[in-house]
Amino acid sequence: MSADATITPMKGSAIVTSQFDAAADLLGLEPYMRRLLRMPFRSMSVEVPVRKDDGSFEVFRGYRVQHNGARGPCKGGIRFHPDADEHEVVGLATTMTWKTALADIPFGGAKGGVQCDPRKLSPRELEAVTRSFTRRISIILGPYRDVPAPDMGTNAQVMAWILDEYSNRAGYTPAVVTGKPLTLGGSLGREEATGRGVVFTMEEYSRDFKLPIEGSRVVIQGFGNVGAFVAQFAHELGARIVAVTDVDGGLHNDQGLDIPKLFQHAYRQRKPVAEFPGGTRITNEQLWTIPCDWLVPAALGGVINKESNARSIDCKVVVEAANSPTTPIADKIFEERGIAVLPDFLVNAGGVIVSYFEWAQNLQQHPWSLEQVNTELRQKMTTAYNGVRDIVKAKKVPWRTAAFVIALSRVAEAERLRGH
Ligand code: NAD
Repeated sequence: MSADATITPMKGSAIVTSQFDAAADLLGLEPYMRRLLRMPFRSMSVEVPVRKDDGSFEVFRGYRVQHNGARGPCKGGIRFHPDADEHEVVGLATTMTWKTALADIPFGGAKGGVQCDPRKLSPRELEAVTRSFTRRISIILGPYRDVPAPDMGTNAQVMAWILDEYSNRAGYTPAVVTGKPLTLGGSLGREEATGRGVVFTMEEYSRDFKLPIEGSRVVIQGFGNVGAFVAQFAHELGARIVAVTDVDGGLHNDQGLDIPKLFQHAYRQRKPVAEFPGGTRITNEQLWTIPCDWLVPAALGGVINKESNARSIDCKVVVEAANSPTTPIADKIFEERGIAVLPDFLVNAGGVIVSYFEWAQNLQQHPWSLEQVNTELRQKMTTAYNGVRDIVKAKKVPWRTAAFVIALSRVAEAERLRGH
């Protein structure tokens, strides 16, 4: 994920907490269990001293939060971003607990961050930040304790440095991180896994609710790792991608944009979407006014909200490819308007599912074929989707509440069985 990815306007934990309460009420969860599941299991705040290229020293602040590990080792990304504070990291770690539980992979939830701007660091300084942070948190890492992955401002190279720093003490341990380069034990299919999983979910919904993907209209905010692959896979299924934006605005074409060429231009060559010929230029505000069947936010948190667009958006389904794109009030508005919102921790779980496959391959010391990765990814996504859909139909609750019911009950059951 690139450094410009997400500055979350509404901090993650505020959104997560209100959703938690609705599902906990529905499950009749005991007060002690609510308290237990709200609090992070462990929160570590560290200094990250680094020698700069000019010889001076800088000290950054870093965090690693393990929200819950009842169902397995904690799992979650590490972001390098100036706004990465503890509050945000706790919210994101919590979401990882629900995401891994709903996907039914044997992990808990974690997240980490270093308050720095990776765009202002040289490659050597970036490596120094990574190694310094890893040394400080390595005591709580490990293949059976806590397994980081890339997030905003970090990438496969950063994971390789974490692997190296950790392995210097523990011996070669590829399973300590996921999202690694292939040469060091990364998995085939990881790059496109989140986008592929998003489209698998759309396919399932399409079948159940008679909304064929072929010929349907798709609008996507964000054309990075998630948005670009969603566009590509939906296009392959015959959808018309009518509008796309990135941080600099975007394009609209009612006949459908030329996605294979746009993919090369904007994703592979990293050029602005708006500079691609073949559509009318639009701003990010105009994106929300374009009628469509599938609206796919794949960039920022809090972008669909009461103040700007929740009442006017004209779509049949919101597919939350980004983390927390819809505020709780906007969620309520969509409920009143009868628009389904497929929640982030169901829709974008493909990345962490293939991270789980990567970890499993490292422990087995046996790489899987791309076909095996994609087949098992489809199975995991479909099973999670089916479980949520059954609750939506049986209990007449929104998709997010249904997803929470499954995730919360799984984590609570593991907590009860393990005891205290
Ligand atoms: P990325 O950095 O690869 O891409 C982000 C895209 O959003 C870029 O095209 C960027 O230009 C665009 N963007 C940034 N600010 C914008 C703005 N104001 N308006 C419109 N577009 C804007 O990031 P990504 O990996 O694609 O992640 C996107 C979202 O998906 C994030 O919310 C992330 O947390 C979530 N997510 C990603 C993964 C993954 O595997 N990459 C997994 C789960 C969730």
